[in-house]
This record gives sequence, C-alpha cells and structure tokens, in this order.
Amino acid sequence: MSRFWSKTVKELTPYVPGEQPKLSQLIKLNTNESPYGPSPKALAAIAAANTEALRLYPDPNSDALKQSIAKLHGLTANQVFVGNGSDEVLAHVFLGLLKHEHPILFPDITYSFYPVYCKLYGISFDNIPLSDDFSISVADYLKKNNGRNGGIIFPNPNAPTGRALPLKDIETLLQSNQDSVVVIDEAYVDYGTDSAIALVDQYPNLLVTRTLSKSYALAGLRVGYAVGHSDLIEALERVKNSFNSYPIDKLAMAGAIAAIEDQDYLKKISQAVIKTRENLIQSLNTLGFETIPSSANFIFTKHPKHDAAVVAAKLREKHIIVRHFKLPRIDQYLRITIGTDEQCDELVKAIKEIL
Ligand SMILES: *Cc1c(COP(=O)(O)O)cnc(C)c1O
Repeated sequence: MSRFWSKTVKELTPYVPGEQPKLSQLIKLNTNESPYGPSPKALAAIAAANTEALRLYPDPNSDALKQSIAKLHGLTANQVFVGNGSDEVLAHVFLGLLKHEHPILFPDITYSFYPVYCKLYGISFDNIPLSDDFSISVADYLKKNNGRNGGIIFPNPNAPTGRALPLKDIETLLQSNQDSVVVIDEAYVDYGTDSAIALVDQYPNLLVTRTLSKSYALAGLRVGYAVGHSDLIEALERVKNSFNSYPIDKLAMAGAIAAIEDQDYLKKISQAVIKTRENLIQSLNTLGFETIPSSANFIFTKHPKHDAAVVAAKLREKHIIVRHFKLPRIDQYLRITIGTDEQCDELVKAIKEIL
C-alpha cells in the first residue's frame, strides 16, 4: 500500500494465476496447459515470420486472423473479435457488454477471474449456486430477480468442475433471456462439448469466447477470440480501440493463423487428451476417488477419506503439482490437468503411495 496508489487500485482484488514454477523436473498438472507441443505448422509460421517487419506496428485490426477464424466457423469477419488471450477479450466483454443497471449472473463455482473483472469495472453480480452434482441449472438463472439481469456468463464446460451443459439447455436460456447478453466461455470446448457457435446467427445476444491457450497448446502466444452478432463485436472493438490498438503482435498473428488452419493437429492432440482423461478417471476411481464427469482437459476429483489439501501437499513433495482451491463447497476437491499418459501414470503411482 502506498499513498501514491489510486483509490481504485487500493480496492482491487487481483486474480491469482496458477503457479508457474521455475523448477524443471516437475510434473506440472496445475494450470490446464496442453502436455503436447503446438502444431509444427504454427511453430514454422512463427519462425518464418518476417522479423524485419517487427520494425513496423502489426495490423491493428488483425484482419487475416479474423478471416481464418470466420472461415473456421462459417461466419463473417465482422462477427469476430480477437485479443491478447481470452482473458483480455473477457475484460472487454465485462466493460462493453456486461456493465448495466442490473447485476450480472454467474455460477458460485466458476472461473475466478469473473468476480475480479466485476470489481475492476464496478459491475454488481449475483452468484447462482451450482446444483449438488455441480451442474448448471438454467431455470435458476431465469428465475433470479424476476428474470432481470445485466447479462449471464459461464464457461462450458464449466471450470474448475469440468462439467458440460448440453447445447439444448443453452438454447433454452437464450430463448427465455433475450434482453441481456449471454456469454459462453468455451476455453475447453474442444475436449468433447457441443459448441454454442452453432447458435450465433440465430441469437443476437449470444457471444462465445475461445482461446488458443488450452487445446491448441499455445498458452504462451496469448491469443483468444470472441464470436457473435456484429453489433456485439463492435462494442468490443470500441473498448479495444480505447485501450490498446495492437493486442495481437506479428508473431502471434502468424502462429495463430497457422494453428487455426491445422485442425487435423488440433483434433489429434485433443483426442489424445480425452483418451488419457478417461483412463485417469478409471484409475483414480479404482482408488476410491469420486470424479465429476469431465468434458475438459482436467478433472475435478475428491477422496472421501483423504483431505484434498494434504494430498496436494504430499504430491508436491513428490514433485507433482495439482490445483487445490481453498473455497467453500470445493475445498475437498483437486483439479488435475490431464498430462501425457506417462505423467498420469506417475501421478497414479504417487497417489497410491500417499493413500
Ligand atoms: C484458461 C481460461 C481462460 C483464459 O485463457 P487465456 O489464456 O487468457 O486465453 C478463460 N476462461 C477460462 C474458463 C479458462 O479456464
């Protein structure tokens, strides 16, 4: 704290990202990165980028990247917004589309950045509790405050539970909530969830966000995007052009386009993660763990007889890092990122020793 800080800064509660340990030789299963490398075509495109051109500013509109994203989803470029990671895209969404008179709605257990943005931008919110099985109940959102809200946002599949909401439930929500924006954060959609992008042309209040950080294995490149009605995209452009004109640098642009064009590679590494996930769930359940059905590249699991924080600490002694949240309702759960088969075998071996 310093007398030079603004009142705004004094009152912030910043997001705490998962640890990025400086040690090597760790099995790092704590921040949902891909255990596989990015598409070789993306790496080649970054290497081949004209580095002399780094002298010049990048395209402020990232037109080429928007074109590839539009083509991938069968949309037009004016239905696409791109940013420096989906966290930046989400930041602009909160300011540009979710700051209204009524509180916005999101689950009590969800991506912990949402309340941070609310605090930053002075947006009031109501948490809607997940059901006992950690599923999202659309009816609860429609009932809240007699159906009046400033917007609705949740990840699908949700984080950190990994549980997906069927597309028909999202459509029910959109049909019954037409006066505010519904944002579906699809950070983990490539691991087996039906995308709401199929509904974008039908619902002018639907915005879907995506990231290249998880399934594309490009967390270090910092590229995310949103798709929706061109009016929603225009709002995000207005915020972006009042904040940072050049969120996508030239290397990120080259890598992101090549990665998006290499859908075969994306499918291959996503399938590998899904297969490892199902095996890991099996192995852990044999050891007595109870695991929420996962549609993500992580699992959310608890053991009825062993304290989650203790297991996490003991795993760390064995150089395996998983995520534990000291929060109501979920403090007995571990969130474990799906690694390679070998990493997951090591994890299961370590857990057997601990139990
Ligand atoms: C990881 C994650 C993001 C942010 O991803 P970026 O790396 O900023 O693109 C957004 N939403 C959820 C739910 C996430 O888990």
